[in-house]
Parts: sequence; C-alpha cells; structure tokens
Amino acid sequence: MNGQKYKGIIQKYRRFLPVSEKTPVITLNEGNTPLIYAGYLSGLVGKNCEVYLKYEGLNPTGSFKDRGMTLAISKACEAKATAVICASTGNTSASAAAYAAVAGIKCIVLIPGGAIALGKLSQALIHGAKVLAIKGNFDAALGLVKEITQAFPITLVNSINPYRIQGQKTASFEICDYLGDAPDFQIMPVGNAGNITAYWKGYKEYQSQALSKKLPVMLGFQAQGAAPIVRNKPILNPETIATAIRIGNPASWSSAIDARDESGGLIDLVSDTQILTAYKMLAEKEGIFAEPASAASIAGLLKLIKKGYFKKYNLNNKKFSIVCILTGHGLKDPERAIKTISPPKLMRADLKTIIKEIGY
Ligand SMILES: *Cc1c(COP(=O)(O)O)cnc(C)c1O
Repeated sequence: MNGQKYKGIIQKYRRFLPVSEKTPVITLNEGNTPLIYAGYLSGLVGKNCEVYLKYEGLNPTGSFKDRGMTLAISKACEAKATAVICASTGNTSASAAAYAAVAGIKCIVLIPGGAIALGKLSQALIHGAKVLAIKGNFDAALGLVKEITQAFPITLVNSINPYRIQGQKTASFEICDYLGDAPDFQIMPVGNAGNITAYWKGYKEYQSQALSKKLPVMLGFQAQGAAPIVRNKPILNPETIATAIRIGNPASWSSAIDARDESGGLIDLVSDTQILTAYKMLAEKEGIFAEPASAASIAGLLKLIKKGYFKKYNLNNKKFSIVCILTGHGLKDPERAIKTISPPKLMRADLKTIIKEIGY
C-alpha cells in the first residue's frame, strides 16, 4: 500500500483497471474483505485441506456488488452521466443507490415485485434511489432497462456494463495476495454469472503477470429452481429462496461456461433445502451469517464432499485449498433467518421459569 491508507479497490489495483488520472474515484472503501479460515468445513473435506471463506458481505453495502459499482459509477461520472439505472434482485440496487448517492447522480432501480429481500429494498430506498417494482421477474426487468438505456441518456450499471466485471475481478487479486497464490478450488454461487466471469478474469490476469502461479478449478452452483446453465436452457419462471440467484437467463452465460471449461471445473445445482442446511451450518459452526444465495457455495461444497469429489486430492499427501465465496451478508434477508429457526419463546419475566427453561 506504499504507506497510504486503504481507499478502495480502484486505488489499490489501479494498474489493472481501465482508469486514468481523469477518472473521478467514487468509493466507499469497498474491497479488502477478510479471507477467513474455516476449521469445521476444512475438517469435513479432509486432513490435507484448508477451506477459506471470502466474506464479501463485509463490503460497504453488504455484498460484492460494491467492487463493480465503484468502477461503474466512477466511469459513468467520468463520462458526465447524470443518471444510472439497473435491474436488480436486490444487491445491485443497494450498491448502485449508495454509490450514486456519493456521486450525486440519479439512480433508478427496477426490481421484481415481492421478490427481493427486505434489507436490500430498505437500502435502495434510504439512499434515495427511484425504486420501481415491476410485475415480472429479474429477467424481465433487465430486458426493460436495456431498452430504456438504448433510448435515453441513462447509464446501465448491471454486470453487462464491462466496468462491473473489471471491478469485481479484484476479489481474486485479494485472494492471491492473501494466500500467496491462487487456491486450488474456488466455489461460488452463479446467478447472472457476472461474478464467476470476473473472478476467472482476475485469476488469469494475475497469473499472466506472474503474480500467482496456478489457476483455481472454478466450481459454480445454481439453485435447483433457477439453473439454466446446468440444464442448458433458459428457465422462464425461476424459483428459489436464494433471491440473489433467482435468474433464468444469465447475461454472462457463455463466459461462465468458459470459466468452467478452461479451469476444468463444473457448474452444478443445489436445492433450496441444501442451501438452507448450509446457511444454518455456516452460522452455527463457523460463526458467519451470510445470505441464502451465498450459502449456495457451502451447499455446493457439501455436495462435492458427499460425492467424493475431493477424494483423490486427500489421497496424495499434499495440502490443498478451497475458497468459498460468501457473496452477501446474512442481515440482507433477516426474514429468512427467522423463518429458518423457530422464533424466540415468549416467557414470563420470572427467574425460576427462565432458569428451568435454559436447563439449569
Ligand atoms: C449478485 C449476487 C449473486 C450472483 O452473482 P452473479 O454475478 O449474478 O452470478 C450471488 N450472491 C449474491 C449475494 C449476490 O448479490
């Protein structure tokens, strides 16, 4: 850092990003998120394995979307844009609203009505975005914003905006910087597939500059009811409790396939039940509260362990590493947590009753 204070991903990784001295840097000090060793999960994989969790929920608005948004909004400001628009399953809108607020420009958001988590909706609203809930899903919202930006001078900040991917690739740089190399495997949720595209791009760039030696095997997971890539066809009515990945026709479909195939990885699916089991396990065993879409990473890890996917790596006595991406914070969707666990029992304010209830 050259003795400078941390000021976000544009400042830190400037030489890898399409910015110049003329680019205004709109930042909330995003990035620099912890890579947390996960002892319980490591033990489940085997004695030679180290599992790490990249906790992207600790970004300023609570998801990885901030990495892409700092660059997308900075570039929009450089181009003198006065308004940005996005379709969102929630986190993109929270992030766009916050960064547009710092930049002092207008933000318009189209969300699928009734299908975004409460925390995310509250963020977009409190940051002053113009939020419109449509009677349709994310894919329909994205179709509309594409049309709107073709007709009006409004900048699109969904991940089809190439600056989003550029900003998001910095997460793989951080992982390599921390571990001293890329991990052997990376597991992540796949929705619109911008993030798997971004990570793979980042890993390849770092390796090509000799800043890392290996490339990870990329393992992506979609939700069972929203798994177009796995099923090899768009899903008209995607359904899953993991609302951040409730997408039937991913914009970055082909680059997700490239990441999978070039890395020798896979894109598979996990059920909502598996996601919720992983969601609880992550909170109870590793002390980390991530939103359901993020838990798809852990559900994927558990599925692969069960299938014996890591067996051959456990057999040769070399250490290997797995990084699971936890894309968003658990507080984004408090309703899901409360629905997953039984709500607290209402007790009389009486010492004896309480002591009996807690088992002493
Ligand atoms: C956006 C998002 C995803 C999906 O990322 P894509 O780039 O759309 O594949 C996963 N989890 C969370 C929490 C998200 O906000």
